[in-house]
Amino acid sequence: MKTKYTLIRAKRRTMVIQVKPDGTVVVRAPMKLAKREIDRFVQQKEEWIMAHREELLRQKQNKEQFFLSDGNLPLFGELLPIEYTQEKKAFYQEGIFFLHEGNEQELRAQAVELYRIIAREELIKRVAFYAPKLGVKPAGIRINGAKGRWGSCSGKNNLNFSWRLMLVPEHCVNYVVVHELCHILHHDHSPAFWQEVERFFPDWRECREQLAETVRKPWFFSE
Ligand SMILES: [Zn+2]
Repeated sequence: MKTKYTLIRAKRRTMVIQVKPDGTVVVRAPMKLAKREIDRFVQQKEEWIMAHREELLRQKQNKEQFFLSDGNLPLFGELLPIEYTQEKKAFYQEGIFFLHEGNEQELRAQAVELYRIIAREELIKRVAFYAPKLGVKPAGIRINGAKGRWGSCSGKNNLNFSWRLMLVPEHCVNYVVVHELCHILHHDHSPAFWQEVERFFPDWRECREQLAETVRKPWFFSE
């Protein structure tokens, strides 16, 4: 088998292979290295490339294999049970999501609606807890459906949070809350800003890693 790859020549001494999320292969090689040398290198790495691709495929399949109809929904990084209710409205109570029976799409829509409600309650509570500790007063709190952004702080000190924060561990939720509150003091990511964050979350780097990790969970609502 011969692996197809995109070759990028660069001012470097060694070769490096990268498997992209879509499975394509990129090779970076020194400017003047002979093509057959590069081919040979790629051939040697064939097994590694294949293993990498399989892993990517598995991750993708896992991601697609999460169904609400299997009976669980994530909250704060944990999977909680779904029960079906005849009540007029779907609701969340003490670790159980009560939904109306329906197909996957309908279940998802109900879940998102509940996440928004929970997010409003949880984030108002957490902002009220941390704001006085920082000596700040946000102008308001809004819940949105952002995918790539957990929170933001406007120039007028309005805080915006994504309901998707309800999917991440609580410690990370608190970190995001403090992060945005610190932006009221520093509207940038300057060292002074991070110093303020660090007073509350010396482990903010781990929090960020954990946030990124949550996004990759099969049950994360990425769409
Ligand atoms: Zn920020």
